[in-house]
Amino acid sequence: MNPFKILVVEDDRSVSNLITTTLKLNQYSYLRASGGQEAVSICASAKPDLILLDLGLPDMDGISVIETIRSWSQVPIIVISARSEETDKISALDSGADDYLTKPFSVDELMARIRVSQRRIQYQPASEETVFINGELSIDFASAEVKVRDNVVHLTPIEYKLLCLLARNTGKVLTHTYIISNIWGTGIDNDIVSLRVYMTSLRKKLNTENDLIRTHIGIGYQMIRI
Ligand code: CA
Repeated sequence: MNPFKILVVEDDRSVSNLITTTLKLNQYSYLRASGGQEAVSICASAKPDLILLDLGLPDMDGISVIETIRSWSQVPIIVISARSEETDKISALDSGADDYLTKPFSVDELMARIRVSQRRIQYQPASEETVFINGELSIDFASAEVKVRDNVVHLTPIEYKLLCLLARNTGKVLTHTYIISNIWGTGIDNDIVSLRVYMTSLRKKLNTENDLIRTHIGIGYQMIRI
């Protein structure tokens, strides 16, 4: 059995069964909760490695569950929401969730998201780390030098800040609002159009074989650990 322990928070029994059956088949250990209060208490006592959290719970708002857990734990949280809950998904990410799945989802999609989170956990960047490496990309934070396949890539200051923000949060989906407030500061109108232009240019300059930066349409961007 995989020692990686996943807490499944879902009040809909059929969805919960589908998830736990998939986890079992893939040899993950799991715990179940059908409400927010229960999820918070299991999280505190059993210390899971990952939480799959349905946003629509009967007793507690999913966002409050995230905020409560985030007050003491950085455990990765993948939220599961219905397509109609698009804004909830964004608030969940802004409250500290790492990633999301939209119902209905396939088991392959579920497993892929879990693997991304696992890679993020296995890679624990030290705060004093000065060189970041992911696949063909390397960033030397001390000299602000970016290389792809050992060739220096010339970025503008904003492109560089964007890349560092994504790199330091590898595996996590960063919302447009989060990125914009980090790069340009708060109080500036959310300019998603400019962000998109910078991202396009950044990607073009990086030109890595595997696309390291994933676009989440209407939501934000995520760097994937290769
Ligand atoms: Ca539900």
